[in-house]
Amino acid sequence: MSAIEHLTQASYLAAAALFVFSLRWLSSPKTARQGVVAGVAGMSLAVFGTLLHPEIVSYTWIVVALVIGTVIGVPLSWVPLTAVPQRTALSHAFGGMAAGLVGTAKYMLWLQDGGLTSFRMFAIIVEVLLGYLTLTGSLMAAGKLQEVLPTRPITYKNQNIFNGLLMLVALASGAYLVWRPETWQLFPVVIVLSLAFGVLLVLPIGGADMPTVISLLNAYAGLAAVAMGFVLDNKLLIVAGALDGSSGFILSVIMCKAMNRSFSNVLFGAFGQVSATAAVGEAKAVKSATPQDVADILENASRVVVIPGYGMAVAQAQHRVRELYEQLAKRGIECRFAIHPVAGRMPGHMNVLLAEAEVPYTALAEMDDINPDMPQVDVAIVVGANDVVNPAARHDKSSPIFGMPIINADRAKTVIAIKRTMNPGFAGIDNELYSADNCLMAFGDAKAVLGDIVKAMSGESGIH
Ligand code: NDP
Repeated sequence: MSAIEHLTQASYLAAAALFVFSLRWLSSPKTARQGVVAGVAGMSLAVFGTLLHPEIVSYTWIVVALVIGTVIGVPLSWVPLTAVPQRTALSHAFGGMAAGLVGTAKYMLWLQDGGLTSFRMFAIIVEVLLGYLTLTGSLMAAGKLQEVLPTRPITYKNQNIFNGLLMLVALASGAYLVWRPETWQLFPVVIVLSLAFGVLLVLPIGGADMPTVISLLNAYAGLAAVAMGFVLDNKLLIVAGALDGSSGFILSVIMCKAMNRSFSNVLFGAFGQVSATAAVGEAKAVKSATPQDVADILENASRVVVIPGYGMAVAQAQHRVRELYEQLAKRGIECRFAIHPVAGRMPGHMNVLLAEAEVPYTALAEMDDINPDMPQVDVAIVVGANDVVNPAARHDKSSPIFGMPIINADRAKTVIAIKRTMNPGFAGIDNELYSADNCLMAFGDAKAVLGDIVKAMSGESGIH
């Protein structure tokens, strides 16, 4: 092995270790920044090691690709936090496309020089199948989340059977190619079927389940990278792809558990079709409160829990939430934040927003830790959360969210719900919490309402 090859392998080894540490550190808010730095350092080392590779034929093309990647990537990073799920989907689409194209290029090269062993062909087929499927599946998911495509599930008779058959034909063509790699006519068939399968897989899944699908596609992209690692004989790609693939699967499982749904229910259940009918409920009387009323109630509380949801992200109210926390802390009132695992539109959505506003992470409590304390809480302030505090999930067997674990806001002595209207949340269903005896609605944009509450508490005038 040459000195350069040694250096490449050493940087790959260091990069693999940094990726493992990065994932470990990212699992806690305390070490998350360190995790990001480790991930970036690992990826930089990986790129450095790859660029040293003697097989690289043209640095010019790499520079061109880097410029194109930067021109696309930098604006992508400017999207608002509410659009991060679709931005992530686009990244997976690019990852899938890269894997698919590398597999295709390698097939064509090896077809010409006779290098197609069964093992290589098997790796190429896995890479191409998963890569192209991830490309179109992720584009569909991004389109649904951005609402440029219809978000409702699109279903038709025998859909799952048709999709299953299509996959079988793709797998059979792939298997034939492993046996007879020179049957090049079948290769485009595998590509077209994978591209079609990505579209058809996401078509019957409602916008509500897109974050879970994206996380699953993340896993597919990771597995495609593993296969690419075998094709290119690159151990770092195998390690990084395996980490990516397994973390994607683990995340999908966490999300399914937090919604009390099975994988098959997410993939084939067409969740979201019921919402239109479920939303039609009889209007119940609700009590409303002004920001001044809320401030007065809070002044007399000793334990407060803030339950943030998607509406906090939409309103960008996290900084007002922190100001409220400071007002309460100044008065010696305990204030904690109850975080539901699927509050918002992606796992960790609330944690990221609250960290951005510099809410101390020690004030954050997970759902299972805070629920037993809820009956002792004086005031629960629900900031733009809806489904994750809907008591119907506990007792109404007919509810689409029945069985989903929730934060028991209704068990607090007083509940203040901040939202703009009586419109339903993501699942499209009414929330009985709002008409409960102990609940007061503070209607308005979360940022404005919280700002007014903080002003009232700090004695400033101009409250409306
Ligand atoms: P919901 O989507 O249930 O409710 C959000 C509420 O915020 C709405 O009722 C809306 O009411 C209110 N809102 C919107 N904009 C504002 C604003 N500017 N100011 C004040 N309120 C506002 O959110 P939750 O966080 O409670 O629940 C998340 C949902 O997403 C769950 O159903 C979950 O299963 C689903 N989901 C989450 C995933 C994740 O990973 N986090 C993944 C997959 C699904 P109004 O319009 O009246 O203001």
